[in-house]
Amino acid sequence: MQVETRPVSIAGLRFGGPEFVVIAGPCAIESLAQFSTVARAVKSSGAAMLRGGIYKLRTDPRSFQGLGSAAFDIVRKVRDETGLPIVSELTDPRQVAELYDVVDVFQIGARNMHNYSLLKEVAATRKPTLLKRGISAKVEEWLLAAEYLCAEGNNNVILCERGIRTFESVTRNTLDLSAVSYVKHNSRFPVIVDPSHGVGVPELIGPMCLAAAACGADGLILEVHHCPERALSDAQQALTPEEFGEIIEKLRPVLSAVKRSLAMPPAYCAAS
Ligand code: PEP
Ligand code: MN
Repeated sequence: MQVETRPVSIAGLRFGGPEFVVIAGPCAIESLAQFSTVARAVKSSGAAMLRGGIYKLRTDPRSFQGLGSAAFDIVRKVRDETGLPIVSELTDPRQVAELYDVVDVFQIGARNMHNYSLLKEVAATRKPTLLKRGISAKVEEWLLAAEYLCAEGNNNVILCERGIRTFESVTRNTLDLSAVSYVKHNSRFPVIVDPSHGVGVPELIGPMCLAAAACGADGLILEVHHCPERALSDAQQALTPEEFGEIIEKLRPVLSAVKRSLAMPPAYCAAS
């Protein structure tokens, strides 16, 4: 028998209920103009929440590392302008306090899923948290990392499947949708899917979004940039706002087939 999902509410949105929540935005926040342009575009096509990296963990130390604290005011302005809640990754326990009032949801990235001191620090805040699956993490390890976040009574944990490393190289990672189905059957956590990092190939992102909805995921997180070829981070996998809009339109009939609907943007709420 399937374990009942315990929904997580964030600023007027509910993950794990009948509504399917789409989060979208750039890999990294680059400027006010860039974040605001992308945010307005994805909101008008059906995103109910924004993503935007403030601190980036890049494989190459010479790559853009994110604006850091220079992005805080940009995040506040774009939240005010769109009314959409924002998720962003923290990469170090020292960022917990400074990001607490800046973002609505903390993201633990794949590279930090095993960083238990970070998980404990985040758990103590009881702030809603999106926990990505580690690059080579087994499902059991991912679920145990989620229990670290719950240890201090923080029940606001959402899981995110973002692909795992395998021998396959035609895609950036191997998107493990069977893990999504497993988690839905065997755990109480809502789970969303990140096909952007999961496959890393723009033309495969749309089909994986539909498959994620069909296999029971509670939402998606997607990278969108108004000008992908100029993106400072993950340019090769960024969707244009037009491509994002087309995916949302294809998603609607799949959602109605599984008796769900697309979550609408929430009425504006201050950061929680
Ligand atoms: C991201 O979402 O920007 C990111 C870096 O993802 P991941 O941790 O899944 O690689
Ligand atoms: Mn990225």
